[in-house]
Amino acid sequence: MSTPQALGRLSKDLAIDLGTANTLVYARGRGIVVDEPSVVAVRVAPNGAYTEVLAIGEEARVMLGRTPGNIAAVRPLKDGVIADFEVAEQMIRYFILRATGRQGLFKPRMLVCIPSGVTEVEKRAVLESARAAGAKEVFLVPEPLAAALGAGLPVMEPTGTLVVDIGGGTTEVAVISMGGLVRSRSLRVAGDHMDKAIIQSIRDRKGLIIGERTAEAVKLDIGCATPLGEPRTTTVKGRDAETGIPRQVTLTGADIGQAVSGTLSRIVEAIRETLETTPPELGADLIDRGIVLCGGGSLLPHIEQVIADATGLPCSVAEDPMTAVARGAGQALEDPEILARVALS
Ligand code: ADP
Ligand code: MG
Repeated sequence: MSTPQALGRLSKDLAIDLGTANTLVYARGRGIVVDEPSVVAVRVAPNGAYTEVLAIGEEARVMLGRTPGNIAAVRPLKDGVIADFEVAEQMIRYFILRATGRQGLFKPRMLVCIPSGVTEVEKRAVLESARAAGAKEVFLVPEPLAAALGAGLPVMEPTGTLVVDIGGGTTEVAVISMGGLVRSRSLRVAGDHMDKAIIQSIRDRKGLIIGERTAEAVKLDIGCATPLGEPRTTTVKGRDAETGIPRQVTLTGADIGQAVSGTLSRIVEAIRETLETTPPELGADLIDRGIVLCGGGSLLPHIEQVIADATGLPCSVAEDPMTAVARGAGQALEDPEILARVALS
């Protein structure tokens, strides 16, 4: 009988969804084996250099905003691309190790999803990080294609499909047909932007300063895409903007709905701009097929309603939207024909 560890050593191919908020790794034949926040805690020398990795993933995430001066919790991806090469490489290396069980036994083939708008330099950074982290061969796949595959959309057919992936740092809007991107936009506005808007709004309206993790927690708790909000309330703790003393306030779903409305307008605007330049035949397909949302941001209650109202197109959320990219990348990994169609040369 083979243990998961033994299987791990045999399956050589990995697909990785390197998100600004979360990294997922799909192992061929096994499915998703890693799903962790893209956060690394490092020790910082007085000169600012990182001297030691202390924690990676969930363990590092709980340190965000809570570290003393000599420790930093770093998110190595920013706006969908690698912002800190060395930290990213360490993180990828660790996740590969987690996915495969033991170090040094083999060098996997690796499929990495990248945002549609990345530059050649940014592409090279991903390639080099993956190679430095131990990949033998690296395939790059545009993230919206992987998302659409994972959402079960007819990616290979000559019919227009519109996917919107709302992640932590970026929103990817793409029209897909015949295994390729016909139109795409990468917007550096997504879940993190909502959190910042919540921080700003609570500061302006309640005089309370809260941290990013608290803002995100409130969004997950009572967040809503419509300004009417969910009929629920929650209390948040922060620091009084005037006195500096910790205190708490009660927030309603409406407070959050109003705070994130600007972020949603930006996303709607990007969808509209993409539609405006979509060839008419494919645009016609979209009237029937509508818009499919994925990524963590699509879990904001009623977001599909807001987008449908603003665009006049039907809109739905993919099943299990936070794993769509990894599952789609996994499909490409399992099927050489799909891989050949969607991988960038
Ligand atoms: P990335 O691909 O950039 O790593 P993800 O697709 O993992 O991003 O989504 C992460 C984002 O989704 C975060 O900003 C997180 O706050 C947000 N998110 C997760 N769950 C919810 C939810 N239930 N409601 C609103 N936003 C959510
Ligand atoms: Mg993503």
